[in-house]
Amino acid sequence: MTDKVVVITGGSRGIGRATAIAAAARGFKVVVGYANNVAAADEVLANIEASNGKSIAVKCDVGSEADILALFKAADEFGTLGALVNNAGIVGPSIRVEDMSAERIQRMMAVNVTGSILCAREAVRRMSTRNGGKGGVIVNLSSVAAKLGSPNTYVDYAASKGAVDSFTIGLGHEVAAEGSRVAAIRPGLIDTDIHASGGEPDRAHRLAHMVPMKRVGTSEEIANAIVWLMSDDASYVTSAILDVSGGR
Ligand code: NAP
Repeated sequence: MTDKVVVITGGSRGIGRATAIAAAARGFKVVVGYANNVAAADEVLANIEASNGKSIAVKCDVGSEADILALFKAADEFGTLGALVNNAGIVGPSIRVEDMSAERIQRMMAVNVTGSILCAREAVRRMSTRNGGKGGVIVNLSSVAAKLGSPNTYVDYAASKGAVDSFTIGLGHEVAAEGSRVAAIRPGLIDTDIHASGGEPDRAHRLAHMVPMKRVGTSEEIANAIVWLMSDDASYVTSAILDVSGGR
């Protein structure tokens, strides 16, 4: 058990929500970042409070540096930062690269890549022993798309997750001797709202037959891996990327 603070971006729904609840159950004080859905964030807070956990919700679009600075300021007021889950991520409608606008690609990279790196920057400023911190853990949400490339659907998203993988390896090495670990999870097809936001709510179930386990995964199955990486049970794990994908 810990009494440290964990910041979870996009903690209001899907994988982030499940991670917030699982982290609170392990004693973390949870900062639930959300983009717009106040009702969803409030539901997560109520769920955590019902189990005697502690959490706050902070509106934070990770595409905005000002929002990220405000998120970490709120976390500072809540307690000592011990972990960051870079979970917020977006997809776009399924199209080919030749039809993508610059705005779509820039937004994808701003949220999935720049946002994650800026949040990690803020976490390292607080957690690294080099900066007077007590160490901590950063878990990044990548995707099996980083390996598959997602042709004809969202190559830009896949490329953004490839960047998350490289960033995980590099930052992990950078802070390894400073009390901090960095790891990534590559989820496969997980049953969340993200598929609806890409225009195809049933996508995960439609493609489930391509998964060796022949089923989609749940947010809780990803959250379990994330809280393991955040725990001392994973104390020798850094710069590592873990597929949680039913074998895909
Ligand atoms: P989701 O169900 O769509 O939930 C997205 C969450 O992120 C919500 O809490 C949302 O907040 C928040 N969010 C959206 N845009 C944001 C922004 N610009 N800034 C900050 N927060 C933002 O997503 P999910 O499926 O749980 O995915 C979580 C992560 O796992 C993502 O990085 C995704 O790429 C990755 N992943 C998912 C799958 C999958 O099959 N589901 C597979 C591989 C990887 P609001 O509630 O306020 O909208």
